Amino acid sequence: CGIVGYIGYREAYPIVIKGLKRLEYRGYDSAGVMLYDGENLKISKTKGKVVDLEERASKEISINGTIGMGHTRWATHGVPNDVNSHPHLSNSGNLAIIHNGIIENYAPLKVELIKRGYIFHSDTDTEVLVNLIEEVQKKEKLKLGKAVQIALNQVVGAYAIAVFDKNNPDEIVAARLGSPLAIGVGEGEYFIASDASPFIEYTSNAIYLEDGEMAIIRLHKAMKVRKIKDDSLVDPYIQELQM
Ligand code: GLU
Repeated sequence: CGIVGYIGYREAYPIVIKGLKRLEYRGYDSAGVMLYDGENLKISKTKGKVVDLEERASKEISINGTIGMGHTRWATHGVPNDVNSHPHLSNSGNLAIIHNGIIENYAPLKVELIKRGYIFHSDTDTEVLVNLIEEVQKKEKLKLGKAVQIALNQVVGAYAIAVFDKNNPDEIVAARLGSPLAIGVGEGEYFIASDASPFIEYTSNAIYLEDGEMAIIRLHKAMKVRKIKDDSLVDPYIQELQM
């Protein structure tokens, strides 16, 4: 399973697809991509390989946009099929998430969200998390980063996630606990990936998130890293990659 994300000035799709291929060694059963072109949030996903995704995406969506996220899934909750593939959208359609790992307490959270009127399209634990983030965000009128943080503090499990909010489209929020996540820091662009291989040709500056950390990645701003538990700011160590 793997995660790739891009926010910057280049076309995201080729970076995401190539990145997903480099992460194929991690194993997976499905693949998906999200693109944002300044107006539309577009998703294409499928059971199968990254080449199957490419074939489908080229027919299903326009593959332009300078913000993108890609995912390869190793199913834990819900069989491998198109609907259970990531990215998953929140009920409003504004939030998109990719997730590697397991949300162990998804069942009681799901019951609670259903009581509040949420509808679920997939059998995944991940769709519960993205709707939990939306519920927190709506209830307390919060920015995405804060909402992600509060939601993650209600979650038991393991994750590497990246979340995008169409209403605040110059940022991606990433977090990890138990699954790896690296961030490539370029000039006017950021990369997110399970390991550095998807972005090593674009930048040699990488930040490896530690367990329990989250990153608010904003275009044209310095990245902020915080501890999910107590909100304290972390001074991230930028590692120089050997090209
Ligand atoms: N638990 C999630 C799912 O089953 C993510 C699996 C993964 O790590 O790819 O959809």
